[in-house]
Amino acid sequence: MMEEKKKRCVECGSHVESLYVQYSPGNIRLMKCERCKAVADGYIECEHMILLIDLILHKPQAYRHLLFNLLDQPTVDSKGLLWKSALIYLALDAYRFIFLQLARQGWPSSSSGGFSSILLFSGKMIFDIFLGNFLLFAVFLVMTSGEDNVSRLKDRSLVSSILISSYFKFFLLVTLVWEFPSSVIYVIDLFVLSSNAMVLKVLTKSTSERCIWTCVAAHATRLLAAEGGALATGDEKEK
Ligand SMILES: [Zn+2]
Repeated sequence: MMEEKKKRCVECGSHVESLYVQYSPGNIRLMKCERCKAVADGYIECEHMILLIDLILHKPQAYRHLLFNLLDQPTVDSKGLLWKSALIYLALDAYRFIFLQLARQGWPSSSSGGFSSILLFSGKMIFDIFLGNFLLFAVFLVMTSGEDNVSRLKDRSLVSSILISSYFKFFLLVTLVWEFPSSVIYVIDLFVLSSNAMVLKVLTKSTSERCIWTCVAAHATRLLAAEGGALATGDEKEK
């Protein structure tokens, strides 16, 4: 039942039969792509750190290696990966919300309503995160659904690819160690946006402009929903 998933050349994105031939343990020869004649996937021999650096540098080859040759394989439990990445993504979003709230107003103090204000704070946080991300992914799915070359792409793989490409959110944790102004959050958002655009480009083969506009639309919708919620919290606080 399990469909054999072909590997891909990281240079041109076309399917290849295999990425390497193994002669003996530790002795492999990398295969070349028949279409572009380049080594199909040089990352096989690279350290993970080099892959990470190339991902941060937004190299499409690194994104193709991660999405097609590393994660989209029968040996990878795609459902588990989707759930795990979604949980980490939401947890980092919760941290983002708390960081922004702390920068703006500080913790809901016990003098200003006690337990109920903490409940209200948590409720706003959950509402903002779920509404914001619901809108974000809705815009992504709607804006990529009309393209012919995406019709073969399952929505689930688009969603998990977007989640994984949002790894820049991990940089939020740097604010636990060093003190930063709250504007650093928006710089990280910008990196997440550009990384999401890279994933759309690799998965859909649309033009760069279209990918960027899709991401700008999705992130702007999310930001408007989240900021609207934050302003409402602020208004209630002022009353
Ligand atoms: Zn190729």
